[in-house]
Amino acid sequence: MIDRSLSDPDLQGTIRVVSAAATHVGHVRATNEDSLLNASPIYLVADGMGGHNAGEVASAIAVEEFEKLTIQENVTVEQLGEALSSAATRIAELGDESTLGAGTTVAVVATMVLDDVGYWVVLNLGDSRVYRLSGEIFEQVSVDHSVVQELMDRGELTPEQARVHPYRHMVTRALGAGPESDPDYWLIPAEAGDRMLVCSDGLTGEVDDAEIERLLRSPADVRTLSEDLVQRALDGGGHDNVSVVLVEVVEVVGQDLVSENTADSAGSPAEDEGFEPDEDTLPRAPRGDGDGR
Ligand code: MG
Repeated sequence: MIDRSLSDPDLQGTIRVVSAAATHVGHVRATNEDSLLNASPIYLVADGMGGHNAGEVASAIAVEEFEKLTIQENVTVEQLGEALSSAATRIAELGDESTLGAGTTVAVVATMVLDDVGYWVVLNLGDSRVYRLSGEIFEQVSVDHSVVQELMDRGELTPEQARVHPYRHMVTRALGAGPESDPDYWLIPAEAGDRMLVCSDGLTGEVDDAEIERLLRSPADVRTLSEDLVQRALDGGGHDNVSVVLVEVVEVVGQDLVSENTADSAGSPAEDEGFEPDEDTLPRAPRGDGDGR
């Protein structure tokens, strides 16, 4: 059975969204170590790793820390960073033998209002992903922190080879495990009709980007779509736990303002808040051809 949850359309500052989530243990694994959060203004997938129940515990901690931010209408990048630090500290403190090597990926989409303009904030650590559908644009926003991504960046692997590479599950950054836990951030103006998909590698390991784009472009509602995405991963083999959270913008108040600002670097408003994104974490140039990859 697919567990699911659905939020009511919800007014968050100037962004009104509807969202849904679905997760499944898959056909192979004994337990579901993915955890998810579908509660405005935070939409999160965490894919836990580590022996025994360590992965489950680590991903649940990530959800708990970010859930503390869901009592408010709006979040700041600083608060997202603090939630990440708190989760990292708690995972590191687990420390007993059964939770040795506990860690988790974290992929987050949050809605944020800055100067009356609505934005998506995307945060990533590991190989869970965030995809964005906005008009003609379909793109993977997050960049995987994984061995195969590094090999692809060096031109040593094609995306097709990466899908079947023996190290395809090996992450190079994670929360609580591994040498590095610096997240990447992106800030992107939100437009009415945008769909943001947060998912674990149990989806992307079974369903290619072209199929994800095709599904996201369908007129189906977010609940139906989130269940369809999980079902597609199960049909593809369900080799891993699969989790999706899907958020759709119903309305952005002050949309004219957003459109005017779209041409600028989306990083600039955040700098007013003391946030200086790295160059490599700025939003990429939109892909307008919509042909998937
Ligand atoms: Mg996984």
